[in-house]
Amino acid sequence: MAAVLKLYNTLTRERENFAPIDPSRVRLYVCGPTVYDFAHIGNARPLIVFDVLYRLLRELYGRKHVKYVRNITDVDDKINARAAERGISIRELTEGTNAVFQRDVSDLNCLPPDVQPRATDHISEMIGIVERLIANGHAYAADGHVLFDVPSMADYGKLSRRSLDDMVAGARVEVAPYKKGEMDFVLWKPSKEGEPGWDSPWGFGRPGWHLECSAMSHKHLGEVFDIHGGGIDLVFPHHENEIAQTRCAFGHDVMANVWMHNGFLQVEGEKMSKSLGNFVTIHELLHEEKFGGRAWKGEVLRLAMLRSHYRQPIDWTVKALEEAEKTLQRWYALLRDKKPAAGALAEAFVEALCDDLNTPGAISELHQLAKAGEADALLRAANLLGLLHDDPAAWDAKASADIDAAEVERLIEERLAARRAKNFAESDRLRDVLVGMGVKLMDAKNKQTGELETTWEVG
Ligand code: AMP
Ligand code: ZN
Repeated sequence: MAAVLKLYNTLTRERENFAPIDPSRVRLYVCGPTVYDFAHIGNARPLIVFDVLYRLLRELYGRKHVKYVRNITDVDDKINARAAERGISIRELTEGTNAVFQRDVSDLNCLPPDVQPRATDHISEMIGIVERLIANGHAYAADGHVLFDVPSMADYGKLSRRSLDDMVAGARVEVAPYKKGEMDFVLWKPSKEGEPGWDSPWGFGRPGWHLECSAMSHKHLGEVFDIHGGGIDLVFPHHENEIAQTRCAFGHDVMANVWMHNGFLQVEGEKMSKSLGNFVTIHELLHEEKFGGRAWKGEVLRLAMLRSHYRQPIDWTVKALEEAEKTLQRWYALLRDKKPAAGALAEAFVEALCDDLNTPGAISELHQLAKAGEADALLRAANLLGLLHDDPAAWDAKASADIDAAEVERLIEERLAARRAKNFAESDRLRDVLVGMGVKLMDAKNKQTGELETTWEVG
């Protein structure tokens, strides 16, 4: 393949040519979910973005030569609190939430990572890293806790580009008597009766969050690997602290060569998040008739997200789903007509993806291929984005089976009312909603009353 993969590296703030440490073993780690609650569609963004990267790496280096690890955080104070609130065991909560998560990612057509390690299966590895850090003089035990000694690391803050003084001034850090430095963070902390915990050289306790990823990435990818990814909110403190732990434990200049971060999915300019309460879960969007009065296919959400570059923020709207669905309908219709066999990968498409995952550019190449009626090439390229994997006949049938006739009638009535009120922007919007649902509208004037009437059919 001629195209050179270029990736924007948060560590250097530059777009760089990607050169894997070992092209026969390209290694990618992405921080996975904390399984205390349903994942929201903001969380879907890194899942989709890094799935595209994984697919592209497999294309460039060969399927067997890429290893993708995405962890599951199943020990965390939010998990403890939620299990207590619901009166169930921690295991029951994490098993249930993880099962929904696995279904969500498969609904979004994300390939399963090669390994999905769980934090609770890596406690002894975490203890091993803490022991190394203490031995190296980068951590200290105090009062049942073990803390990372931040000032012991000369270039702490390199990823987020904050100096220690800035951090101390800006942070709302927890003041605790057992801390030597204000920015020192917890590697291990004691567990009370009833809290999950493990025996350790420092007493019965549990790991800090950052430590989990250092232990799991080390176990499955080694001391230094190629790419580490996650959402932009993870740069500080999570990734900074992962780097501190791994580098100081194993004595390297880097933990991963390339650090990639996706931008936020936003609602009215704010990050979609659990804490702000402005979230939509993947599960409710795909399985409940809640948004625009209907359920949506995972593929539609996927395309809607990929229409923006991964580092840009996206504003969440139902309109974006409607537009993505219309596009998919057109593409599937072409596949239905032409019954393609997967063709060669279009060069311009690969070049766009290799340009720091320029998915908007790659999608405009798909539009070109569709316009030219090149169904074979369209299918092949779309598949690399995790799109158009469904049976074209079934896709449409599914879309029509989802149509709720009462809802269609209601929207048609609303649209006619908007037209009578001469609110044409609204009537156009409603027409787009209906078309997006896979409904064809036929307007005609009633000869007797002179009023506009609308009939509809699926199609
Ligand atoms: P969390 O469960 O908050 O640790 O998030 C899991 C992943 O989703 C992390 O990579 C976050 O950076 C990412 N994430 C959380 N909220 C958003 C959002 N609104 N937009 C994009 N990514 C997000
Ligand atoms: Zn992590």
